[in-house]
Amino acid sequence: MEATIAYCVKCKAKSEMVNGKEVAMKGKGTTQRRAMTGQCKTCNTTMYKILPSKKA
Ligand SMILES: [Zn+2]
Repeated sequence: MEATIAYCVKCKAKSEMVNGKEVAMKGKGTTQRRAMTGQCKTCNTTMYKILPSKKA
């Protein structure tokens, strides 16, 4: 399985995400943004990564 790298606000660095799962975040109106949520491998802080939308 591919590691997910996201920015950790506590480490102030990019870190590996563990227990990552994809979630849908509500945007404006009916827009839904896809994101990943999980924990920083280093400090266990919850971290998010916004996934790029498929539409350009
Ligand atoms: Zn961290």
